[in-house]
Amino acid sequence: MLDGAFGPRERLGELRTAARLGVSRTPVRTAPARLPADGPIERGDSGFSLTIPHHDPAVTTAELATAELERWYAHMTVHALVLVNLGFALALMEADMFSFLNSILGFCSNCAIAWVVTVATDIGIGIGIGIGIGIGIGIGIGINKYLLKLSPLQPEFRRGMLHAVNPVGVVAFVAASGLSIAMYFHALGDTLQPYSPVAAAVIAFVLTPLMAVVTKGRYYLRRTDDGIDEPLLDSAGNPSATTYDCHVCHQPYERPDLAACRTHDAMVCSLCLSTDKVGDHVLPAQPSAV
Ligand SMILES: [Zn+2]
Ligand SMILES: [Zn+2]
Repeated sequence: MLDGAFGPRERLGELRTAARLGVSRTPVRTAPARLPADGPIERGDSGFSLTIPHHDPAVTTAELATAELERWYAHMTVHALVLVNLGFALALMEADMFSFLNSILGFCSNCAIAWVVTVATDIGIGIGIGIGIGIGIGIGIGINKYLLKLSPLQPEFRRGMLHAVNPVGVVAFVAASGLSIAMYFHALGDTLQPYSPVAAAVIAFVLTPLMAVVTKGRYYLRRTDDGIDEPLLDSAGNPSATTYDCHVCHQPYERPDLAACRTHDAMVCSLCLSTDKVGDHVLPAQPSAV
């Protein structure tokens, strides 16, 4: 059976099987009953037959093809592999894959420009923010922070200290990237299409301070006090290096990376705050800060 002397679905007639195997009819008749129910023999309308397709032509062809491919790869020299890779590269070039990549990257760059200009206008990170493509390096902007004094001077990242959403960045970024992507895809005509990166930069640059003025900077800080007695900065004005243990992950962290947890009267690190599903350790909003 297993060496393939019987074909798949071949009917196992008692007389014929006994003759082929050179045994009497009794073991041929009793053997199927002793094989497991899900075994290699099934009972059909016309008696017993094999269920395992040992020599299914499709399986045999696939096996042969796989073996042939393996032999081919094993015998392929390094030079042949280089030629195959060159062939793939040539095929990609001939299919104009680079133009396709260019359009994808161009589309993504509009989002990147909108993002960078929004953040730069809002925070201002010193020097060097490229506005648009090729316009080059501008001077650090930081309009909201230094000119309007609407965004906080100290960077803040801890959950509970910030509002979940600040319309300043969200509106500026979504409008700048959305409009510039529309321009990129010719929605505002062919004349404006090449200027989509500039539009991304200009819209983000204008909308970020505008939204800060409109919202009066109310959606930056949710509270100003993180509940820890020790000041965040030491006497020299540097971030305090004192370490405290986080009561959730039990790891030591420097003072600026922690906030107080009112629920457990302890300290919690910014990472555990971010991964706190139910918001158990998050400080409540501070009415005076709003
Ligand atoms: Zn922690
Ligand atoms: Zn807690």
